Amino acid sequence: MRTPLVAGNWKLNGQRASVGELAAAVISGTSEIPVDTLICPSFLHLEAVANQLRQAAGEGTLSVSVGAQNCSDQAEGAFTGEVSAAMLAEAGAEFVIVGHSERRQLYSESSAQVAERYAQVLDAGLQPILCAGETLEERAASATLDVIGAQIDAVLARCGAAGLAKAVIAYEPVWAIGTGETATPEQAQDVHQWIRDRMKGVDSEIGNKMRILYGGSVKPGNAAELFAQSDIDGGLIGGAALNADDFIAICRAAAIQH
Ligand code: PEP
Repeated sequence: MRTPLVAGNWKLNGQRASVGELAAAVISGTSEIPVDTLICPSFLHLEAVANQLRQAAGEGTLSVSVGAQNCSDQAEGAFTGEVSAAMLAEAGAEFVIVGHSERRQLYSESSAQVAERYAQVLDAGLQPILCAGETLEERAASATLDVIGAQIDAVLARCGAAGLAKAVIAYEPVWAIGTGETATPEQAQDVHQWIRDRMKGVDSEIGNKMRILYGGSVKPGNAAELFAQSDIDGGLIGGAALNADDFIAICRAAAIQH
């Protein structure tokens, strides 16, 4: 039995006050919903949100976790502008997203670099959320599974099966991120099932236990049918995570389906 995870990627949004308000609304709105909930603010806001979560946990509110949207591929040293996974752990992060398509596309992160970041996340004792997905051109060329397989294999080569077992995988078709286009539940399920079968090929227990999230224009109106698919274990949510009511409705949809 895999507990659904709904993760909000807040990207480069918000200021201290609005981030605090959004976090407070998510904490109180999801307290009775039996899914794992994660919010990923900017590096700068992460520690304040972690403190809000700690305070809520102390008051008996079911806790949400906080995560980062990326981390350095280096542990320490002369790497100007970087933030290490260990720094994020100290600030209160429990998860780190690696390989988001915006990182791969806009900042030219290769799968090998993503695997290095992934290794740093593991070394810091945090849980990686590994994003994988194809562009529209790759889908049109029937290369979807090759692309996703290569993105996952880079981590397998770097961290081994035991390292890969720690992942949450987020299938995020690039053409569906922030575009309003969503993969149909069947399209998403096909890829999720393929990923799970591939993981089972590495180790059947890893495949059965691994949470595989769908990301790409998930909204309250389409979440239930996506989460009803047997290999979709929750979502990585971008735009809709910036609206507390929408995010809470998506969490509720994940709870109903499991
Ligand atoms: C994302 O950025 O990971 C994402 C899924 O965004 P959106 O929900 O806006 O498509």
